[in-house]
Amino acid sequence: MSHRYAIAIGSNRRHGRHGAPAGVVRAAVAALGDAGVRVIATSPIIPTPALGPAGRSFANAAVIAETDLDPPALLARLKTIEVAFGRRRGRRWGPRVLDLDIILWSGGLWTGERLVIPHRSLEQRDFVLRPLAAIAPGWRVGTGARTVRQARARLIRRAG
Ligand code: ATP
Ligand code: MG
Ligand code: MG
Repeated sequence: MSHRYAIAIGSNRRHGRHGAPAGVVRAAVAALGDAGVRVIATSPIIPTPALGPAGRSFANAAVIAETDLDPPALLARLKTIEVAFGRRRGRRWGPRVLDLDIILWSGGLWTGERLVIPHRSLEQRDFVLRPLAAIAPGWRVGTGARTVRQARARLIRRAG
């Protein structure tokens, strides 16, 4: 059975071959396809310039993908891609070549020990909601009545 997923892609480190974070994000989209995860929509890549000389620039994007894999199987495949891009185990939120997170899926909720969908921080992160709103504005966030577009409007209102 085919499932539909929203996947967030982030990078804040250069890669030897793919270059700056935006290049890493582009290469990761291609790697998803190579891993049998059919990408049917890709958002623009959103760059966040480094703040100050020591800061790191970020690149974020989102894709909509279709695959027969269930959520744990997809997560395992995403982790394999992260490792192939040179990601090492380390601090959560530390600098990383590539982060691939499952944000939403067509099955609604998933609550496992190592995997929660919708992603727990979705509604607090404009770097996820903004690219996602470009490709899936009407997708509902979990069981809630809010769409991605509405969740983003709410976040911006609260931040402003
Ligand atoms: P954050 O989850 O806040 O974005 P992160 O992406 O940097 O942080 P990781 O180190 O990539 O965190 O992942 C830590 C663990 O989070 C993973 O090993 C995975 O088991 C778990 N996890 C839970 N829910 C999800 C999800 N929806 N997508 C990806 N990983 C998830
Ligand atoms: Mg993450
Ligand atoms: Mg992650």
